[in-house]
Amino acid sequence: MLVDGRRILFHVPTSSLFELDAVAGAVMDRLAGGNAVGASPLDGQFGADAVEEALRDLAALEAVRPRAAAPRPKPRPALPDNALTTLVLNLTTGCNLACSYCYKEDLSRPAAAARLSRAHAEKAVDLLVRESGGRRRLNLTFFGGEPLTALPLIRHTVAYADRRGIETGKAFDYSLTTNATLLDDAAVDFLAAHRFAITVSMDGPAEIHDRNRRTIGGSGTYAVVADKARRLLERYRLRPVGARVTLAAGMTDVAGIHHHLKNEIGFAEVGFAPVTAGLPAGFGLGHDDTRVVFDNLKTLALAWRDAALEGRDIGFSNIGQMMTALHEGSSKLIPCGAAVALLAVDTTGALALCHRFAGSGQETFGHVDTGLDHAAVAAFVDRALDRTEGFCGDCHARHLCAGGCYHESYARHGDLFRPTDHYCDLMREWVDLGIAIYAGIMAGNPTFMARRAGPRGSDS
Ligand code: SF4
Ligand code: SF4
Repeated sequence: MLVDGRRILFHVPTSSLFELDAVAGAVMDRLAGGNAVGASPLDGQFGADAVEEALRDLAALEAVRPRAAAPRPKPRPALPDNALTTLVLNLTTGCNLACSYCYKEDLSRPAAAARLSRAHAEKAVDLLVRESGGRRRLNLTFFGGEPLTALPLIRHTVAYADRRGIETGKAFDYSLTTNATLLDDAAVDFLAAHRFAITVSMDGPAEIHDRNRRTIGGSGTYAVVADKARRLLERYRLRPVGARVTLAAGMTDVAGIHHHLKNEIGFAEVGFAPVTAGLPAGFGLGHDDTRVVFDNLKTLALAWRDAALEGRDIGFSNIGQMMTALHEGSSKLIPCGAAVALLAVDTTGALALCHRFAGSGQETFGHVDTGLDHAAVAAFVDRALDRTEGFCGDCHARHLCAGGCYHESYARHGDLFRPTDHYCDLMREWVDLGIAIYAGIMAGNPTFMARRAGPRGSDS
């Protein structure tokens, strides 16, 4: 691809970028036109030696191969040794709100909620320690329903995990996604004392947020959430606090939402989750809205790039995550850590694939009472690898997308092993834009990426 007049080669197997010099660029052009290139002068422009050297370099990257050579058979991909590093604890099925687009299949009012018991929470911590191999840093994520409706259980679990951490030489990081309505100063001080990574679910200014994020009685929650979020941001300065926006039907004003949450409320980062499947009927983004949302996400990504070139981070986590993946040469074989490094504990103590599958009735991978079902995990990973090997095998986005979120596939197609083929074109556009942005920043302000990688790396 051309970025600012430079020829950039995206090396799919390693998600790395290489700048092509004039001769390598001419070789690739010639090949793209369906012509062969021998080790002979090219178009009278480049000498035979230069062409031969370019061909050697490109062949080493497996970007080209001699016409006679058959493609090398791809070995069955295998995941590097993995250990469980994150457990998501679904503390309760209860939520004090009744957002119209909520996907949770087991959601209930707080009074009728099923709750994880203290004994099962402790066993979950023990299971994580046991299954974490040599990993020293472990993550506990508190989820619901609304996790702050179960704050005493969070306090109990954190105290237990801190104690087990000291006994076993492990260090626990804690995180929480909340609707913010139950945050008070005492809760914030507790979260600060344990350096929680906090994400607030908030959809934007009042007229957007209140469309879906409502109380059980049906009133909008913007006023209380904005007030609590501001108070949180004032009081909690140890770690950046992010906002998570669910983009549902009719919500396409990405720039306006980002501006409000970043500049008017003060969140460090805003992440967008466009939901095309799985919401109650009529709440997901329709086909036309999805196109508009992706175009608007791309426009915001370009604004992020322009700021990055000036050394500023305007806090747009979707593009930030892709920059990190490209910077680290991420080469995903499966879409996310679910089953491999992450599992969710549902309120009965069963191990679900991730927080979205907790309470869904789908396959589980053991129970905190009986331990992790390694055979079930291995069988799942095998099927997950097949999922991308076939359909995604020739896709240049495969090592960044890897077939897409299992839950999106399950919600859309009822089959979590089917790749998210309903938005491949959009995904490839998004990945291509990310590659161009990354190449532009590495050329125009490489220290920005290095600075960004530093503190974040040490935070995780
Ligand atoms: S964009 Fe489509 S084909 Fe490519 S990796 Fe993702 S799901 Fe597979
Ligand atoms: S399956 Fe989807 S929702 Fe669950 S962890 Fe993976 S990407 Fe996230």
